[in-house]
Amino acid sequence: MRKRNWLSALRFVFLAWVFSAAGLAPAITQGQLPASQHTSAPITVEHGPNTAAQQAKPYVILVSLDGFRYDYPRIYRSPNLDALGARGASAPEGMIPAYPSITFPNHYTIVTGLYPEHHGIVANAFYDPVRKQVYSYKDPQTEADGTWYGGTPLWVLAEQQGMRAACFFWPGSEADIQGVRPTYYMKYDNKFPNAQRVAQVLTWLQLPPAERPHFITLYFSDVDSAGHAHGPDSPEVGVAVHEVDDEIGRLVAGLGKLNLPVDLIVVADHGMVKVDGDWMNLGQYFDTGLLEKSLEGFMYPRSEAAAEQVFAALDGKSDKFKVYRNGSVPAGLRFDGNLREGDPVVVPTGPYLIRVNVPPAGAGDAMHPSGPPVGMHGYDPAHMPEMKAIFFAAGPDIRAGEKLAPFENVNLYPLIAHILGLDISHLTTGHVDGDLKVLRGILDKAH
Ligand code: AMP
Ligand code: ZN
Ligand code: ZN
Repeated sequence: MRKRNWLSALRFVFLAWVFSAAGLAPAITQGQLPASQHTSAPITVEHGPNTAAQQAKPYVILVSLDGFRYDYPRIYRSPNLDALGARGASAPEGMIPAYPSITFPNHYTIVTGLYPEHHGIVANAFYDPVRKQVYSYKDPQTEADGTWYGGTPLWVLAEQQGMRAACFFWPGSEADIQGVRPTYYMKYDNKFPNAQRVAQVLTWLQLPPAERPHFITLYFSDVDSAGHAHGPDSPEVGVAVHEVDDEIGRLVAGLGKLNLPVDLIVVADHGMVKVDGDWMNLGQYFDTGLLEKSLEGFMYPRSEAAAEQVFAALDGKSDKFKVYRNGSVPAGLRFDGNLREGDPVVVPTGPYLIRVNVPPAGAGDAMHPSGPPVGMHGYDPAHMPEMKAIFFAAGPDIRAGEKLAPFENVNLYPLIAHILGLDISHLTTGHVDGDLKVLRGILDKAH
């Protein structure tokens, strides 16, 4: 990316000028690869250099190992993660995800410090009855549309304060949130080789100080995929655990050669549990014509009366779920009052597969084409310890040997903002649910 010849550099400057003169979003360039490979090339958004003050700041790499349950290190062994914990902090009994314990809501909670009901990404796919539109993580258009996302993600916070950021995948990182994208980011490509993801992060950290990102995200999906397909107690999960643990080892070894003050934080979005039984269809209990829309387990009624009818039809029908009117969901779930959650709200009481109806032919999950998944997540972490995720952190700002009791993942946001010296007291998006007090104890004395 950086080694453009002078002609293309000139063209870039000219285009940037044309765009900014036209009052459009910052100019975006893609890596110089053939068009067919563009999905896997880093995209650069010109935000200018790191300010002088930001160049003096440390670096934070936030890694997500999707679906890496808190107890996998003990079950399958993960020497590189263990070493990170020994050198810094860890939560041996897990980090608590927000409800629902699924991928997009939790990744976006981690980078905003907000519960899903406050940041608005309440599921991987949901309906917005006011917009009358469906958001889906599988639809590149909605995924990249910043108007769906609330809060101020860490990369936006950094960019707004003159610090460059990079995302090697993260839910929301392709969207123009508040009109801002990370200086460097990637279009999501499940098949992008893991070792090359690590190599790209190390390449970013070798850019000149003015261009070098201080906040970087990195993401691996292997452990989640193996957990769904084979269950949390399978040899396949063991293989995936070792694969991503090796990547952490590669990353740590690479960082060791850079001589930069880097804090490495490795987390998961949620855990995994073995599913009990086959799909249960809520549609068997009521006339689904009462719904304007349904998506997996979420129901969007045509009217207040319809919501009450659906609620009455579901209430007490099965001990596999509890049902609440939106507005009366137990406070502990933090899943109440956002219309995107639907009405009524169904909360599974165990590891059950609950949906409104069989999806139309062809719309099934490509990951599980033959029958229900063996492993699943999404359940209430307060009643299911298997939903808890890993947390490891080490680096110059983290005290060695800190062992934390379980804490909620909303608290990572104020911790990372604090390490990077980013101000979160004047966010235009308002109050943050996380609190620095919760994790402050793991910071080095200098803080
Ligand atoms: P879940 O259905 O909650 O288990 O979601 C996990 C899946 O989300 C992964 O297997 C990925 O395919 C997908 N995923 C993760 N990150 C992204 C992203 N940034 N963009 C699109 N899809 C993603
Ligand atoms: Zn996930
Ligand atoms: Zn998953």
